[in-house]
Amino acid sequence: MKYYSTNKKAPIATLEKAVVKGLAEDKGLYMPETIKKLPKEFFENIDKMSFQDIACAVADAFFGEDVEKEALRNIVCDTLSFDCPVVPVTPKGKDDTDIYTLELFHGPTLAFKDVGARFMARLLQYFLRKGSKVQGVQEVQGSEVNVLVATSGDTGSAVANGFLGVEGIHVYVLYPKGKVSPIQECQFTTLGKNITAIEVDGVFDDCQALVKAAFMDADLNAHMKLTSANSINVARFLPQAFYYFNAYARMKALGKADNMVMCVPSGNFGNICAALFGHAMGLPIKRFIAANNANDIFYNYLQTGKYCPQPSKATLANAMDVGDPSNFARIYDLYKGDHAAITSLISGATYKDEQIRATMQECYEETGYVLDPHGACGYQALKDLLKEGETGVFCETAHPAKFKEKVDDILSTDIEIPARLQAFMKGTKQSIPMSKEFSDFKDFLMKQ
Ligand SMILES: *Cc1c(COP(=O)(O)O)cnc(C)c1O
Repeated sequence: MKYYSTNKKAPIATLEKAVVKGLAEDKGLYMPETIKKLPKEFFENIDKMSFQDIACAVADAFFGEDVEKEALRNIVCDTLSFDCPVVPVTPKGKDDTDIYTLELFHGPTLAFKDVGARFMARLLQYFLRKGSKVQGVQEVQGSEVNVLVATSGDTGSAVANGFLGVEGIHVYVLYPKGKVSPIQECQFTTLGKNITAIEVDGVFDDCQALVKAAFMDADLNAHMKLTSANSINVARFLPQAFYYFNAYARMKALGKADNMVMCVPSGNFGNICAALFGHAMGLPIKRFIAANNANDIFYNYLQTGKYCPQPSKATLANAMDVGDPSNFARIYDLYKGDHAAITSLISGATYKDEQIRATMQECYEETGYVLDPHGACGYQALKDLLKEGETGVFCETAHPAKFKEKVDDILSTDIEIPARLQAFMKGTKQSIPMSKEFSDFKDFLMKQ
């Protein structure tokens, strides 16, 4: 499979180059040249298949031309060592509901990003082990690949843990000082080994700008092999499509897959973009809702047809505090910039903190389900936008314990922290302080 850039000026790339480089030379995002449709029989029998088997079929459609079958199966199985259930969110005293949640937080760091992160780590390792040279990627001393990742919380922990101990790869996690939750911070600052945490005196967008500038810097690229593990990387965002095929399968098994609406709490739009790729492969989901916090850039695009990036606003749902979602370029490209096509398939919703709080309280009182602030945007969007005869599935993108302080404060609860999370809190925090000036970041990397 060949990959082109959304800016259409960079040369066509192989999968290996797209994964190793992350961003194309013209700053565009890589897109697969073709999206293979899966056969009708696959969807007819999908409810009898396991998450892992479904994912293998989807991975084969994406990556089967470029990765040997057995190796690809191993990568998928190593990535999906956990389940991804759909759970009805049923009002107390009723026995049916039209709202379900797809719990995406059963991975190693309790983040949906675990899937993309681990998949990418293993795919990168596969290409490094094969030792093939990527045309267009400068050869630099040492074969180590350096992964730069900007995070507002969840990406950093998922990527750090996905890549932890993977030989030949060093990870630099850039995060905004004071803007990630204590548990999240522990998940990438306590690991050591091949993981370095960098605490940037700025906001998430500053971290993302530093990473983007590093990729474009000729001196740095001559000094070290750099790649990105943000959802700009095809190996990070595409595997997230597995979730949506699985959601459909589990809903079909319940007899609830007709008129299914998928609602995705969105920040950088990588997750929903993967869902839309699934749709393009034939996945019979009727329509999609992108649920946002107060960062309403996509919502405004849907209303006006104009995409106007804004500085990000800090909200309760901080993993979605993105003012210029990178994957907008992919969604735009997927529908050839056709605003009508986009709005007929995708709706938007935007919620301020006050509404997020109220939603969490209402849902807890009415159903007993504990939402985290991100999932709350998804739940509320279904409440507001689901039509008669439709069944809605929203992604619960984070385990509520990841935002324990906020959740307990809003719901007056004392929710339990899963053992897996507690283990991270025991380590010692180690991070390198950094200004938001690119020259400082560059100096630091040039010394590595
Ligand atoms: C990353 C993240 C999101 C947003 O996902 P995108 O792919 O960036 O749109 C939503 N919720 C949580 C908890 C996240 O970590």
